[in-house]
Amino acid sequence: MNTTPHIVLLPGDGIGPEVTRAAHRVLVEAGLHATFDEHPIGWTEWCERGDPLPRETLEAARAADAILMGAITSKPEAEAARELAPRLRDHGLRYRSPIVRLRKELDLYAGLRPARAWRGIPCAHPETNILTVRESTEGLYAGIEIDNVEPDHAALIHYELANLRERTTGRLAISARITTEHASRRIARVAFQQARLRSHQGATPARVTLLEKPNILRSTGSIMLDAARAVASDFPDVTLEIENIDAACMHAVMDPTRYAVVVAENLFGDIFSDLAAGLAGGPGLAPSASIGDRHALFEPVHGSAPDIAGRNIANPIAAILSGAMLARHINQPDVAARIERAISATLASAPASALTPDLKGRGSTTTLTDTILRNLWSNDDKR
Ligand code: ATP
Repeated sequence: MNTTPHIVLLPGDGIGPEVTRAAHRVLVEAGLHATFDEHPIGWTEWCERGDPLPRETLEAARAADAILMGAITSKPEAEAARELAPRLRDHGLRYRSPIVRLRKELDLYAGLRPARAWRGIPCAHPETNILTVRESTEGLYAGIEIDNVEPDHAALIHYELANLRERTTGRLAISARITTEHASRRIARVAFQQARLRSHQGATPARVTLLEKPNILRSTGSIMLDAARAVASDFPDVTLEIENIDAACMHAVMDPTRYAVVVAENLFGDIFSDLAAGLAGGPGLAPSASIGDRHALFEPVHGSAPDIAGRNIANPIAAILSGAMLARHINQPDVAARIERAISATLASAPASALTPDLKGRGSTTTLTDTILRNLWSNDDKR
């Protein structure tokens, strides 16, 4: 039986290949016990093959023990159609985000986005240490959108909509927020498990805060509330708090230590995790995991950053930290800890000549990766 975990690398486009290469190098040097292979995904695949998520890539991802992704460019529909190879036009092809499709295909329902401050990196709140657990399959990102609503569509949704249609002229569209008890319960369970784990590790208090808006979004909001309360009864050691998402954004800016693990539906979680990443030092340092019961994908929170792609100045740390999360997921916590120690040492003491421009440095992706590798080796010497 083959017991070596297999990792699929999906570098993507823009700065994706640069930061994935760096993360791969660090994982190998840190001693990750795994095999790797690489598959195409993203904008080039869309332009040249008409599918940003080729079938072979999806199947390879499905067969892997874990996936490490770089970044992918997404553009509005009209622009996507214009950039398609001429021979592929007029075939009714439509661009659909490959990452949204991967999340659906592999049922990666839990987005884990840790945001912590690092010594040596100026940030709004050095005490920030928040894990956002984001429901990733439904909510307002469920993809149920109705453009140009006509009265007969409205009957499916609510009678008030028909009144609205009569009172307004011009475009009217709907993006529906979908919430199920099943998805709400399973995301709440992940949040409580993470809160317990982090408190056992001494990282943060055993506390989950549900971010919702049940006073306005009554139907969907109450499902989230009921699910969190039901799951909380299985975790007597973890406190449940409930806050409105808007108030939580304000409170987090004033005092991020109020939050340890927060759980939220898709859109709220997306917004709050970016806010937390901003409090902790910016997008170049924010990793993420998308977890399901059978599959797991790791990627930096940042996008493909076309403005700096191909210049060897992208900060690779978010991708490298995503690699550390992957190592922990495949049960190699020592590798994860070695990588995190090396990054911590690098950020605390590296000269400006080693750091990338987003960290106010004069260095490159290569100099920063090399410094992390040197710290990896010298930390080992000290042990
Ligand atoms: P997308 O739609 O692909 O998410 P975006 O432009 O909305 O793209 P990002 O690609 O994350 O978002 O870029 C936002 C800004 O942050 C850009 O100015 C980019 O250069 C910068 N940025 C993102 N990632 C990094 C990184 N790893 N290192 C340095 N700068 C980065």
